[in-house]
Amino acid sequence: MSELTDFDEMYQEIVLDHYRNPRNKSKLSRDFLETKSYNPFCGDEIELQLSINDGKLEDISVTGRGCAISQSSGSLMSEVVINKSINEIKEISLIIRSLLKNEEVQEKDLDRLGDAFALEGVKKFPVRIKCALLSWAALKDLIDQY
Ligand code: ZN
Repeated sequence: MSELTDFDEMYQEIVLDHYRNPRNKSKLSRDFLETKSYNPFCGDEIELQLSINDGKLEDISVTGRGCAISQSSGSLMSEVVINKSINEIKEISLIIRSLLKNEEVQEKDLDRLGDAFALEGVKKFPVRIKCALLSWAALKDLIDQY
């Protein structure tokens, strides 16, 4: 994956693992919100489904095609947000945005990201930030509708 060769090794391993073995990719069967998003700069696509009950994300499906960063970001996102409350998910989304925009993020906030902290590796490559944020933007769209 040539696009990842400049990544720090620790980040690279996590991102590649999620690219090769994406989590939570089974389509949901009932009561879900759905959106598709597209990143014209890179050709990435993400299809996102959320099943929300009582203010909590009970299930999520992320599928798509495109570069390793866009697809692994979707998988990393699905792992960190599943079974969280909508309020927690909003906070986690803001932390990810700060991380990628190279704003200061506190240690205790980083701890909330699980393996998604590996997306920090993307901030060194500004053209890739849109790839990393594609699934997170889709998530925000759906949650704002809820
Ligand atoms: Zn991309």
